[in-house]
Amino acid sequence: MIEFPKFFLTMAEVEEVLAEKREEDGETTQTVAVPPQGEKWCGGCKQNVPLAAFHKNKRGKFGRDSWCKSCKRRRYKEMHG
Ligand SMILES: [Zn+2]
Repeated sequence: MIEFPKFFLTMAEVEEVLAEKREEDGETTQTVAVPPQGEKWCGGCKQNVPLAAFHKNKRGKFGRDSWCKSCKRRRYKEMHG
């Protein structure tokens, strides 16, 4: 349990302190997927894939496609028989 200096904290401030404490404890409800360096999230296989596995795409995030090469190949096959 955390000790609060009760006399000057407003409820909003207490909430803020509690939220910070929750984050420290790793109980944050927000999960932001930040891929490790040199990797990128693939929307096809739903996992982080090394950047080298993506085709270059100037319009894409990080200058790469949003799907890795193998996913694009699979998708292409699905679409074109
Ligand atoms: Zn993929």
